[in-house]
Amino acid sequence: MSARFDLSGRVALVTGGNGGIGLGIAKGLAEAGAAIAVVGRDEAKNAAAVRELEAMGATAAGIEADVADAASCAAMVERTVARLGGLHILVCNAGINIRKPPDRYSAEEWRRILTINLDGTWQSCLAAYPVLCEAGGGKIITNGSMLSLFGAPFAAPYAASKGAVVQLTKSLATAWAKDNIQVNCILPGWIDTDLTRQARRDLPELNRKVLERTPAGRWGLPEDLAGTAVFLASPASDFVTGTAIPVDGGYSAQL
Ligand code: NDP
Repeated sequence: MSARFDLSGRVALVTGGNGGIGLGIAKGLAEAGAAIAVVGRDEAKNAAAVRELEAMGATAAGIEADVADAASCAAMVERTVARLGGLHILVCNAGINIRKPPDRYSAEEWRRILTINLDGTWQSCLAAYPVLCEAGGGKIITNGSMLSLFGAPFAAPYAASKGAVVQLTKSLATAWAKDNIQVNCILPGWIDTDLTRQARRDLPELNRKVLERTPAGRWGLPEDLAGTAVFLASPASDFVTGTAIPVDGGYSAQL
């Protein structure tokens, strides 16, 4: 392992780390040497993810928390520090979507999507900030989407939340550069997870459209996000901050 990408002795907290993209990222960070706090609402899913990480030889702890709740975000950081001895890398990955035409959303659905995707990212970052400062710096990776860049007729609140996550990322990057905290966003293309399996059920044409539009000609896998996450979590990216990096098989490069 090149020292530039070595995460030995680092502790990473991954929200939504118990499945899908979050677990793909958690495995990448663990392979690079980090200890992992797997955060999600479902204790059984957290425990299963911890077992997978431990089977790789990693140190991992499952932490039940709901990023929609600011107090729960504060508690997840406290518990990470208590169980793993510190915090150096925060991955704000937890997110949800509900697909329907814009005029069909209830006020509660709009609020739920914005609260988890946007407020959850904000609250996680604020909870981690003092601990990262105390450690002399750190890395924050947020999770956007192709819908941070594009609109879609079936995901107005999700797109609004993910566009805002990029602007939040840039703002925190500019504010916290003085604290040696780099804040960057990953923009996943279409990745095969529970979230998009549900989308394929909701939107029968989606599979064909994704394959036609993605130059790589395939859906991404959760492990496709790992390399970029390791880069953004490691000393290799110490002069990289405020960026939003597509990991999308070329989807956003093609008209
Ligand atoms: P999954 O549905 O597979 O995973 C979502 C994860 O988020 C789960 O681990 C879930 O755990 C956790 N989660 C959801 N709500 C909360 C909450 N309130 N508090 C804590 N954890 C929560 O989705 P993906 O892996 O596909 O998506 C992960 C992220 O990537 C999301 O932000 C999504 O928007 C983004 N993304 C996904 C794309 C894709 O193609 N799959 C494309 C672009 C972006 P639990 O249920 O235990 O709480």
